[in-house]
Amino acid sequence: MPEERASPSGGWHEVYGAMAVDTDFEADSLDCPACGDDCPRLHGRTFWCPTHGTWEARSASAA
Ligand SMILES: [Zn+2]
Repeated sequence: MPEERASPSGGWHEVYGAMAVDTDFEADSLDCPACGDDCPRLHGRTFWCPTHGTWEARSASAA
């Protein structure tokens, strides 16, 4: 009497660890209002541009 360890649909599990992250919420980086460069967030609404230094994000009217 053989052991039935393997399920009929063995190996059906899917890989879902690479799901895309939603970017609807406020990102951790914004484009510099002056030069459009990518500026990482320093703290709160303060961002840092490699060219223009720190700047504060205005009340963005989310598009
Ligand atoms: Zn800039």
